[in-house]
Amino acid sequence: MSHSPTSQPISGWGRYPVVEGVERLSEDLERITERAAMTRGLGRSYGDASLPPAPGRAVAGSRLADRILRFDETTGVLRAEAGLSLGRLSRTFLPRGFASPVFPGTQFVTLGGMVASDVHGKNHHVNGCFGEHVRALRMRVADGRVIEVSADCHSELFLATIGGMGLTGHILEVELQLEKIPSPWILSRQESCRNLNELIERLGAASASWPFTVAWVDSLRRGTDMGRGVVISGRWAQPAEVPTPPPRSPRRLAVPFDTPSWLLGPWSMRWFNRAYYHINSRRGTRRVVHPESFFHPLDAVADWNRLYGRAGFVQYQCVIPREADRRVHRSFFECLTRLGGASFLSVIKDCGETGRGILSFPMPGISIALDIPMRGDATRELVDRLNEIVIGARGRIYLAKDALTRPEHFRAMDPRLDAWNAVRRTWDPDGRIATALSVRMFGDRA
Ligand SMILES: Cc1cc2nc3c(=O)[nH]c(=O)nc-3n(C[C@H](O)[C@H](O)[C@H](O)COP(=O)(O)OP(=O)(O)OC[C@H]3O[C@@H](n4cnc5c(N)ncnc54)[C@H](O)[C@@H]3O)c2cc1C
Repeated sequence: MSHSPTSQPISGWGRYPVVEGVERLSEDLERITERAAMTRGLGRSYGDASLPPAPGRAVAGSRLADRILRFDETTGVLRAEAGLSLGRLSRTFLPRGFASPVFPGTQFVTLGGMVASDVHGKNHHVNGCFGEHVRALRMRVADGRVIEVSADCHSELFLATIGGMGLTGHILEVELQLEKIPSPWILSRQESCRNLNELIERLGAASASWPFTVAWVDSLRRGTDMGRGVVISGRWAQPAEVPTPPPRSPRRLAVPFDTPSWLLGPWSMRWFNRAYYHINSRRGTRRVVHPESFFHPLDAVADWNRLYGRAGFVQYQCVIPREADRRVHRSFFECLTRLGGASFLSVIKDCGETGRGILSFPMPGISIALDIPMRGDATRELVDRLNEIVIGARGRIYLAKDALTRPEHFRAMDPRLDAWNAVRRTWDPDGRIATALSVRMFGDRA
């Protein structure tokens, strides 16, 4: 089945920026990628990564191409079309004792999107990025050919595609190694921390013994309890640890309309952060929970991006290398509050080794992710200042969450850019594949 395309506003999850475009949706992804400038999945990247390079340009939408093609119960190797969502993968395979090796914070992502962003999860310090577990890809490249790529076949294209933000070709199929799990439930533990130093220390300690770790931080506190927060750890539960009846999937709420901008002042975010801290610091320390509540807590509120109103918001995620002085983290949060940036949810993760994707985001260190309401030039100024701190610390930002980084800032952060570009241009010398992000960041033709 295929849907007749009409021009419509297209945006990422942050609802900024918005581009008028034509999204072609079909179960036959191979056909609709023939003339498309790019492919998008479920549009859960935040900024302009999944948007067409210019208004009116056609993009291929993969989400109807979601068939499971092969699964080997003995090895756990899965082959599926690129539009298969993580949510469907989990619902199909968790009850059979297999899980995705990496879970980003939402289940509404496609396999193609997970490869293109080389997504990471709470277990990055153990399992690395998604791309580490991808065995092969079937792709349509810019000259129209459909080819199979892997670590052994067209390996340079394979490695440039993992984390390559969809700019090296259209991903049609993904072959992936799933992980064998003892039960489909998670044993989780929470501990509250009084300030940023304690939080970073406890997160590091938790990562030494738990496969899944993450910290939520109250980014609006100042003074001695600046950076207070909650460290959350987890592992797959053993069958004997699971209560009867087992935990249920979380109830779903929805945000029915766009929140008016006056509700989004620093006071409401301060109130939210304070309430979140107090509720979560009182929670029992260990309990068995449903995997959706653990991996994707925000999915419990459908359309939560509407909370940021019509103007939308930007996500900002960077990684500060392990060797950086602790003062860098502090100055990062000081800069955020000084320039009036406020975030409902600020998340800190412990990142392990850099992945094999040439442009893969994580590096050993601490990653910080913030949601910032879009307020025009003030937000641009804030992102510039945060980026200067990241450059000074030799860190980098995550393209899947970016909307405002200047090209010269990104270049200063990522010395791997030329190597990646060289592979890209070998496979697409005429620049046929492009996105709004590549026009803004890499100077592609619109
Ligand atoms: C609530 C929330 C939590 C998140 N948490 C995390 C997290 O913990 N870790 C993390 O790493 N990310 C996280 N993300 C970001 C998200 O995982 C990535 O942006 C992911 O790429 C989105 O997948 P998608 O299918 O929606 O892709 P889209 O957003 O539609 O596209 C993202 C990029 O992938 C490319 N792409 C998509 N499909 C294809 C294809 N078939 N062929 C070629 N290119 C393709 C697009 O061109 C684009 O560049 C989160 C996002 C949200 C909204």
